[in-house]
Parts: sequence; structure tokens; C-alpha cells
Amino acid sequence: MRLYDPWKRVWLDQDVRAPGPTKGLVGTHPFVDLHTHVRLNTNEDYRSLERAALAGGFSTLVIQPNTNPPLQDRAALETHRRLVKDLKVTTLWAADFFGDLDIDPESGVVCYSTDGSYYTHEDLVRTFKKREKGLLLDHSQVHELDGDFYEGTDIPFSKRPLSNEAIAVYRTVLTGLEYGFDAFHIQHVTTALALDSIAHLKCCARVTCEVTPHHLLLTMEDIDSTNKKVNPPFGRKEDRGALIRAVERGIVDALATDHAPHPEKGEDFSRAPFGTSIIEVAFSAYYTALRNIELVFEKLTVGPLKVLRKSGNFCDGNLVLVDPKAEYVVNTSRFFSKGKNCALEGMKLMGRVVGVKLSDRWVYWDGEFLSDERQGFEDQL
Ligand SMILES: [Zn+2]
Repeated sequence: MRLYDPWKRVWLDQDVRAPGPTKGLVGTHPFVDLHTHVRLNTNEDYRSLERAALAGGFSTLVIQPNTNPPLQDRAALETHRRLVKDLKVTTLWAADFFGDLDIDPESGVVCYSTDGSYYTHEDLVRTFKKREKGLLLDHSQVHELDGDFYEGTDIPFSKRPLSNEAIAVYRTVLTGLEYGFDAFHIQHVTTALALDSIAHLKCCARVTCEVTPHHLLLTMEDIDSTNKKVNPPFGRKEDRGALIRAVERGIVDALATDHAPHPEKGEDFSRAPFGTSIIEVAFSAYYTALRNIELVFEKLTVGPLKVLRKSGNFCDGNLVLVDPKAEYVVNTSRFFSKGKNCALEGMKLMGRVVGVKLSDRWVYWDGEFLSDERQGFEDQL
């Protein structure tokens, strides 16, 4: 089988024993998501999240702080650590930048995040002044300005200027630099303006960024249901084109999911929560948008690990196998996630995750989760 080493950027030919047919499959290191939400209420718990993540080919998740309870202090972290004890996927955490929890790689807290918080410029200044220095994941938005959707959208609700995101990128990075912070990761970039800002800021600071699968496939013209209410909102066609080009040119460091499960969102755009349940179809969405398997593999593995300053190397004990030629229509009723609110519902995607192997054991194969006893090699021999 052809396996791709994303560190060395080479294809290898290796025998792989798997629980099912492997004809036409290719593999690489399992995926790493820098941006995962777990609600810890009825909408998603770590068990359902793990199944959704494995079905999507992910083995490592950076959990965002807006959980229940929020990741703001040691007690909340201990609750999370207890809940993930028997999981097969690796969970890392982003501490709420405005809370009291410090970065502590030993206990899995690898960075801060502003995601899920309403914050003002004043909050940023105050927090940059008092926080220990460390990597900050930033949901770049000027929250002081109203608007659930970008200007130009047909939805008759409050609009925010497209420049909001770029202004927020500069605001966070320049304020942080002034107070001694030196590593910034801009989450879910959506506008060409913000990409230009990031490209400029990369010259003077360690600034990385990510995009989401839904922003690479949809624009403001596609918003026809509350499942397409996400934050940041969908941009213009030219923004979507700029995002794709930025991934290809290397301005975008990592492909993330912003998996945000919710139950039914209802039909009222003004009341519906933001977010899309998407981790299970993220690889397919990226492959459909980019059509470059090596690029997608790299930006889902080495890319996010580099943002976290983690090294690694390829070994066939940890694998995700995909069928690049498979096509399917997104059907959220089949999701393992408790969140059925997928912005891509009904969309035809290319490329499908078939199996995941972690620490030499197959844990997922073609819709089933495998126990240690049921590796199924004999079927193959
Ligand atoms: Zn966000």
C-alpha cells in the first residue's frame, strides 16, 4: 500500500495488514485538529466526540475552552482529565485566555484560546499584561461591533463589516507583541483581507493560521438554513478563492475543523447558535476543495503539530487509511457525533476515511469501532 510520510514528504510502499479490503486505499499519519469543541452537556461528550473524531480520521484534538464547565481553572481541567482517561484519542486543551488556568504541557494544556469568549480591546490589554507568555489561539473578531453575518449577505439580520476580522487580527497580534507575547495562531480565517494581514504579520512575528472545511466550500450565497450559521460567517466567493490559494501557497499552516456540535438549531436565524458538526466529514471536505492529497495530509498532520511546536515522525503503527476515489453525500443522521447540525448536509464530497490504527491496533474500520480482540487479520490471510 502507498503511505505518505508528511514529515519527509515522500510516498512509501509498505505491506499493511488491515481488518478489511485495502485495494485503492492510501494512508498517512492520523489527523490532528487544533480546533475542537466538546460541549460536556447533552450535545456532545467525550465518548461521542471520540467516535466522531475516529470516523473522521483524527487521533489528536485540541479542545477549546468554552465547555461546561469552561476551561478556566484547575478544577475544570481535572474534570476534563478524568473524563478522557480511557479514550484512545489524545486530547490536549486550550485554556481560556481570560481565565486563571495556565499553560502546562505536563497536564495537557498546550496553549491559550480566546475562542468562545466575548472580549473587548480593554480585556485583551489587561490579560496580555498579566498572563504568563505562551501560544495564543485567537478567534479574531471585534466583538464590540454587532453582526452575525458579513455585509453582502441576504439574511435580514445584523451585519458585520468584512474588515472586522483583519482589524481583530492586527489588534490581537500587535497588542500581544507589545506585552511580550511572541506566538499567535489565528483561528478559522475567512476573509482575503485577514489573509493579507496575516501574510504581513508573519514578517514580524510568529503568526500561524488555520482554515475550516466549511469556509473552503461555502460562501454567503449558500446560507439557506440555520446549520450554515457559523462564526466567523461565510465570506464572498473571492474570499473562498483566496482561502484556497492561501492553503496552496503555505500562508495557511493548518487545516482545522472548528467542530461545534449542537442539537436541532430551529429555523430562526437570529436565535440559532453558531457552529457546525463537521469532524466526521472534514477530510472529505478538504479533499473536495483542494484536490491535492499530499497537501491535505500535510496540513492535517505536520502543519498543526508545528503550530504546537511538536515534532514527530512517521511510523505505520499509527495510520489513517482513506479511499481518495470514493464519493458520498453527507448524511448527518449517520453521524456518530451527537451534533447533527452540519453545514455540508446533502453535499457530495470526494475521498472517504476508511480505517484508523493507533499504537499498532486498528480502532476504527469502515463505520465500526474495533476492540483489541477483533482485529480481523484472519479475514485477510
Ligand atoms: Zn471561533
